[in-house]
Amino acid sequence: MERLLSHLNYLKLHVPFYMERNHRATSIAELPIMTKDMIRKQYGEFFSNEFAEVKDRLVEFVQNPAIQKDRTDNELYFSEDIIVEETTGTSGVPFRCAKTKPERAVLSLGIWKQRRQVDREVSPGNLFQFNHIGKDADKLDIYNYDPENLLKIYGKVKDANARWLHTPPSTIQHHVVSLQKNNIQLDLPKLKVIECNGEYLRPETKKILEEYFNVQVVNQYGTIETWTIGLSCACGNLHINENVYVELVDDDNNPITKPLVTGRLLLTALSNRLLPFTRYLSGDYGYFNEDTCGCGNPGPTFTILEGREINLIKGCKEKLYGNVFFHQMVRRVLRERQIPGLEYIQVIQSNLDHFNVYTNYFDEVEVFMELFASAACLCMERDVAFQHNILSESEIVRKQREKPNVFICRC
Ligand SMILES: [Zn+2]
Repeated sequence: MERLLSHLNYLKLHVPFYMERNHRATSIAELPIMTKDMIRKQYGEFFSNEFAEVKDRLVEFVQNPAIQKDRTDNELYFSEDIIVEETTGTSGVPFRCAKTKPERAVLSLGIWKQRRQVDREVSPGNLFQFNHIGKDADKLDIYNYDPENLLKIYGKVKDANARWLHTPPSTIQHHVVSLQKNNIQLDLPKLKVIECNGEYLRPETKKILEEYFNVQVVNQYGTIETWTIGLSCACGNLHINENVYVELVDDDNNPITKPLVTGRLLLTALSNRLLPFTRYLSGDYGYFNEDTCGCGNPGPTFTILEGREINLIKGCKEKLYGNVFFHQMVRRVLRERQIPGLEYIQVIQSNLDHFNVYTNYFDEVEVFMELFASAACLCMERDVAFQHNILSESEIVRKQREKPNVFICRC
């Protein structure tokens, strides 16, 4: 609570949006909900005036995604002390945010504290990163699932005596599928934990990884804006990171404090000063868990549901999450009729009644599409159009490098 108050006071003193409009607020809960769009339209209102000497240049830099200097994966070096991060997220529109190096150090410390609660022996020296690697790192092509390439990658993991592996879950799941297809069992006796990050960790994926690698699989849930929001423990519960304050609100923005009631996540980043995030709508849905966690950590825990807001199918009577829904439709069709060959599918809703479906080519693709479309219409209780498009192999490789979303709403 003390940190929340100090955050509020900082906003009222240094951040124009709050200095002018919310100078009377006495608690965070009185502040308006903040969205990506609000910030994108008026960065100057949200950057702190404490950094006046660079603020104008920085605002121009983040407002203009065409400026691409000193780029590594998703990081741009604005200056010695300020690093800009860019997220394309599931909406496909780039969004930039900035942190100072000292802020990043504090956030990093917060992550390491949580990791050590899971495993006392983890350290920067034995954590191997598949993603989020610095600009000078030895680049491995983790998206090439060729067994020879995978053996090279895991050879490096072994040589590094890695105890923890940090990776997007869908990528490492692809690795396991390819390794198993080729009857390869890796020998990584030092590996204890796989930390998944960057995407929703499906329970099926967690199980596949646990079984293949015989390790503990943890979920590091976070955003580019705030970094770690929670890390899951041995019980599988996400414990909230000390640098983030998590609130939940319903669709009318009323606060939800009761456990097991689903709402939209609002994040307040307690250690970000340069570009503070306050009651920031992450786009994710979740709920607070009921009991104190059995792992011994008394802090509150929460559960994230699959499907960002962008992931809701529009125009349905009920709330349907596209990723979950279309996965179910694929399973349903393939249960009814064994059609081999589907390797890739993505559904994009272009308007209320029109969906584009992208797949690879396979022998009975037309039969599959017919069954898929009729199952989806039936379950949505709507009559909508599904237009089928076949992707080439190279287009699929490119798409698989993006965040893997079976469904995207673009309307
Ligand atoms: Zn726990």
